[in-house]
Amino acid sequence: MLNGTLRKNYALLKEAILNGGPSFANFALTNACNARCGFCTFPSVPAQDRVYVEARRAKEALDILYDRGIWYITFVGGEPLLHPQVWDIIGYANGKGIVCMMSTNASYLNENAVRAMKEAGLSTLFISIDTPSAEEHERNRGLPGVCQNIKEMVPLLKRAGINCIASVTISKAIKDYFKLPGFLKGLGLERITFSNPMIRYSDSYAGYKDSPLIDFTPQEIIQVFQDIKRLKAEFTVLNPTASLDDMIRFFSKEEVKFLCLGGYKSFYVDWKLDVYPCQTLNEKMGAICEFPTVPFKRLNCNLCINECYREPSLMQYIAISVSDALADFRGGRLKGGIGRLLDGNNLISLWASVEEWRTGGRI
Ligand code: SF4
Ligand code: SF4
Repeated sequence: MLNGTLRKNYALLKEAILNGGPSFANFALTNACNARCGFCTFPSVPAQDRVYVEARRAKEALDILYDRGIWYITFVGGEPLLHPQVWDIIGYANGKGIVCMMSTNASYLNENAVRAMKEAGLSTLFISIDTPSAEEHERNRGLPGVCQNIKEMVPLLKRAGINCIASVTISKAIKDYFKLPGFLKGLGLERITFSNPMIRYSDSYAGYKDSPLIDFTPQEIIQVFQDIKRLKAEFTVLNPTASLDDMIRFFSKEEVKFLCLGGYKSFYVDWKLDVYPCQTLNEKMGAICEFPTVPFKRLNCNLCINECYREPSLMQYIAISVSDALADFRGGRLKGGIGRLLDGNNLISLWASVEEWRTGGRI
């Protein structure tokens, strides 16, 4: 056991030094969802088009992803708890050494699900919350009674050692961000991560909808990011301050400090087992069976604000700098290597990782 842990830590360290650290993926196990969220198009997927990735094929995909350095996976949907073999798949991933997280609307959380989660080795559960009002949340989701269910299940989840985090999409359904802490504490949730409002950029992902709920002017969204920064003084917000600052720069049309590593260090696998750099870009990297040989490219993209990809990119910046510097030194490019190490963004990136670690983090 100790040998296994040491081997894993050594592999992690080697990966971090030589290749900028392990990679991350969102893996959509299904496109089916039982909720009716006003800012999402998954509910309109017709019954005949709903797909659940076959467990055998999901496991083959996990083997391929792991071999390409993807050691952190968030299982998403639609609603992943609708997948009949979800625990078999997650147990397999955990057994390989992949850190497994999941995003859920919580309507299917029950004692059996919590037990299964624990046995499968799920590390973190993101529970979606839309507003600081149970009534409005349940209306927007079309899930009556879900808040009471969350309240009853969170203590069981905590006893099972599962890291529970409220995942709140920034939307106009939230009138006052400062009411969130009281509401979340009432549900037993002590930490929050905000999802940025995603408009539709392409057809590759069914989850983005041009909804009035996420139709912000730049000034409005900048104000929201500023409110979230202030919220950090009274509640544990996991989004790094540096990322919120970059989002403010994005909407102020200023140059952002951190470009996105989607397609290089972060990926999206959909329910057809096609791999994309992220949930936004339409350009497929290939079917999962082609993924073992697909080259990873640094797109250094700044098209969208999807925090699932932007925030890991920011935190990984320093690890990439170190591995780039080492490559420069090995190639005799002394000046280039020193420049990478002295890059001022390294410290910002390091601090964002410290912030994540101090707050208990998502991983
Ligand atoms: S946001 Fe999530 S829970 Fe809501 S409809 Fe979309 S997939 Fe379902
Ligand atoms: S910035 Fe957006 S579109 Fe570009 S790679 Fe990242 S997540 Fe994808």
